[in-house]
Amino acid sequence: MTTPTRPSRPAPRILDPVSRVQFLPGVGPLRAQNFERLGIMTLEHLVRHYPREWLDASRFVPVKDLHPGGLLTVVGEVTQAAALRTRGGRGDFAITVKDATGILSCYFFGQSFLSRTLRTGTKVVVSGEYDALDRRMLNPMFEVVEGDLEQLLHAGRLVPVHGLTKGVTARGMRSAVRHALEAIADQVADTVPPEVAAAHDLMALGDALRAIHFPENEAARVAARKRLAFEELFQLQMVMELRRRVLTEEGRALAIAASGALESRVRETLPFHLTADQDAAVADVARDLSLPRPMHRLVIGDVGSGKTVVALLAATHAIETGHQVAFMAPTEVLARQHAATLARFATPAGIEVASITGSSPAAARRLLQARLLAGEPLLVVGTHALLEDKLQMPQLALAIVDEQHRFGVKQRATLAKKGVLPHVLVLTATPIPRTLQLAWFGDLDVSMIRARPAGRGRMVTRVTDEAKFPQVVEFMSRELAAGRQAFVVVPAIEEGRMELRAAQSELERLRAQPLLRAYQVGLLHGRMKSDEKQAVMDAFTKREIHVLVATTVIEVGVDIPNATLMVVENAERFGLTQLHQLRGRVGRGEHRSVCVFIGGAGITALGRKRLDVIATTEDGFKLAEADLELRGPGEMWGTRQAGLPRLKLADLWRDEELLMAARAAAHGVAKEDPQLMRAEHTALRQTLLREYREPLELALAG
Ligand code: ADP
Ligand code: MG
Repeated sequence: MTTPTRPSRPAPRILDPVSRVQFLPGVGPLRAQNFERLGIMTLEHLVRHYPREWLDASRFVPVKDLHPGGLLTVVGEVTQAAALRTRGGRGDFAITVKDATGILSCYFFGQSFLSRTLRTGTKVVVSGEYDALDRRMLNPMFEVVEGDLEQLLHAGRLVPVHGLTKGVTARGMRSAVRHALEAIADQVADTVPPEVAAAHDLMALGDALRAIHFPENEAARVAARKRLAFEELFQLQMVMELRRRVLTEEGRALAIAASGALESRVRETLPFHLTADQDAAVADVARDLSLPRPMHRLVIGDVGSGKTVVALLAATHAIETGHQVAFMAPTEVLARQHAATLARFATPAGIEVASITGSSPAAARRLLQARLLAGEPLLVVGTHALLEDKLQMPQLALAIVDEQHRFGVKQRATLAKKGVLPHVLVLTATPIPRTLQLAWFGDLDVSMIRARPAGRGRMVTRVTDEAKFPQVVEFMSRELAAGRQAFVVVPAIEEGRMELRAAQSELERLRAQPLLRAYQVGLLHGRMKSDEKQAVMDAFTKREIHVLVATTVIEVGVDIPNATLMVVENAERFGLTQLHQLRGRVGRGEHRSVCVFIGGAGITALGRKRLDVIATTEDGFKLAEADLELRGPGEMWGTRQAGLPRLKLADLWRDEELLMAARAAAHGVAKEDPQLMRAEHTALRQTLLREYREPLELALAG
């Protein structure tokens, strides 16, 4: 065998935070591709790839004191090493490690390649759980030590657990991170300005980066996490602050000074009195509208709490002063329903409600457009898409956005006319806990509607399983006999065909029930054309259809007070908040309503627990918190939803205090230097522009 000549070592590179990971010792261009799958291109990415958790393997014991329970670490010398082949052909590896007090066996499944590393005579640190029965450690973490123990990466310390991918081992990741830290930790630009760091007594960024990966002890880890979480929250709050400053600049909106006469007239046509929360929300909005800065207000109210009428009363202020109002619904069905409801209350007071949908005839659309261009003060109801792109509203003063959490800056800009921004009122039934409001909606003002209108019938929620379907049908037939109506919701397993099939077979199953023979069962699903959907909704409203089988197209906003029974099949497939939304489709009239969640055959214990949670509370806020606890903030509360990058370390449940501090700091910085032009804010400006470009478009564009 000939030894190939070693290529001469490349000259050592000067590395900086934007150097590619391939230049790290032990990585190279090929392995670098594996890192890229984790989004790690540069050394800064690598040092920002924080561990998911840390294993505490920092308890060193002599071999004689080994005991089961918890991670223990032994330092010793390898006295025997053997690669073994099992009958099944797996290559295992076993060693013994000796210290002054005794000998420990270690066994590594399927890792015969370790024979190259763990040779007899090697000094080694092993960390693992001691199995007293077999008197050994199974697959322990280990590290070969040459010098002192302070340099340990893989054992005998708080061992970081990083997110990995194929081709990047835990050990490979740790040493790459260690090399990157050595090369650039102190060069990473700190986005927290020096004055903020000083005021909050923050440790240096480089120290925090080192300590988050390889903390000396738990206290160091906690301190580093806090420092880096602060940085995340600070950036997020800077985005909110800057955006808020631009969006609410004086003079960027029309001040609407209505007398309130039109509002009073509409109130007289209402068949009910507003609740105190509704009144307060209307007052909040009227106050915002009277100022020359654009309103950006979120009305959060549980399903059925009566947000629509709040929006209508807000609209009266714009109409009274001769302006136009856009009311944007998420779907055409809802747009039409809103148009009908609003017209019922608004027309008697002399407000004209115009509705526009994708299926409106071209002639009607042209006529409406002409009237809008002529400046007529109309309340126009339509879908987001239509009102944003298709229709020009030169006198638009107020945009009402129904059931969408975030109305983006971009959308506002499209509605804006020559730099004058419309006031925006967002209605949502999704309860958003306080810390999340601050973190993700920090640039919005919030009005809460907590109490449900009085005079609503009782609501009962039951959780059951498929075996009880006959009883459910029997109950349904009694409700129908009493003149009520029912929804049956099936999950959209997949978009498209599967969804259709699930809904279709449910429809057939119900139609086949002798007890339901006298009743009409209708079907509503996502693949229907909008006029077909509308025809079905109309028939349901007119009580020509008694039972409506639907996929979740009915989820938000549908208002049929005569419907008193909601049956949800395979309920475990829905999120708690979604189920709560569905439940909100009933209980809108004076009659008692019942909601039945049927768990599917494949329901897990956790799934069952979630359904039990929803059966025991009707408070949407409590449910949102329970959902968060059970599922974690990732999915439904994800920053993704708000178009913002993910928080890696900050935890909005535990870090409220830190959030408040970051918020105050961001407020201070934005006030002093709103364009972030000062030298000490350069890193912050650059990072924000890179990471948060879209949400900041308007704020830092100049
Ligand atoms: P959501 O907040 O879910 O959008 P809606 O605005 O659709 O709720 O209102 C639900 C129902 O409650 C509607 O039929 C509405 O007319 C009615 N409603 C609203 N406010 C009151 C009130 N203060 N008293 C009685 N009924 C009300
Ligand atoms: Mg609504």
